[in-house]
Amino acid sequence: MADFEKSRQQVQARIDAALQAAGRAPGECTLLAVSKTFPAETVRAAYAAGQRAFGENYVQELVDKTEALADLADLEWHFIGPLQSNKSRPVAERAHWVHSVDRLRIAERLSAQRPVAMPPLNVCIQVNVSGEASKSGCDPAEALPLALAVAKLPGLRLRGLMCIPAADAAEPVLRQQFGLLRQLRHEITQAGLVPDTLSMGMSADLAQAIAEGSTLVRVGTALFGARQTPLAPLENQA
Ligand SMILES: *Cc1c(COP(=O)(O)O)cnc(C)c1O
Repeated sequence: MADFEKSRQQVQARIDAALQAAGRAPGECTLLAVSKTFPAETVRAAYAAGQRAFGENYVQELVDKTEALADLADLEWHFIGPLQSNKSRPVAERAHWVHSVDRLRIAERLSAQRPVAMPPLNVCIQVNVSGEASKSGCDPAEALPLALAVAKLPGLRLRGLMCIPAADAAEPVLRQQFGLLRQLRHEITQAGLVPDTLSMGMSADLAQAIAEGSTLVRVGTALFGARQTPLAPLENQA
């Protein structure tokens, strides 16, 4: 899939340039390929081009693609969408990461449902950095207490924080919202935990996120092109 390879090189060049501009070392930010709405064959082709980490927003798509691609043992699946309690089990049984933990109840379910034979599920706490009522994520003031509680759950491994800034935010606002996530991670580190991940930055704003310390950018459109399937807004999806 020459197209994917070309797009990936372009995205990687943007990541490398942003890291360099921020005075950060090469390789300090990894690329998660967001494959939501694209078929399993698209993921398989990206895998053949060397991509290993993929992000999905919808539980049913995660189930379908993990089944269709079960032969690719070293694929890494990241669940990044809003998660309802009654749909947590297939995610706990299939994902390597969940970026969208925003309340203790969902964390407790994921921990309890994580099969004991699997390594602990890597999780990020999603924080609502924009303060928009419609957005998923915990309140910034809840991030530390939630992190401390999540870190105690045996089936989970707390890895860090995730955010989705306000859509169409101007550059200074974006920087402020990404900067808030960085500050919250600092507070969690001061409290004695070791959150190594800041999951922030998408196709349009990855440079600003990397300037504020992102360690993982979640990129869909810039890698795979526009999503064909019309989607409900990013938030509020089951
Ligand atoms: C869809 C999605 C992305 C990717 O967005 P693009 O703008 O296509 O790069 C990243 N993160 C989350 C949570 C998403 O839902």
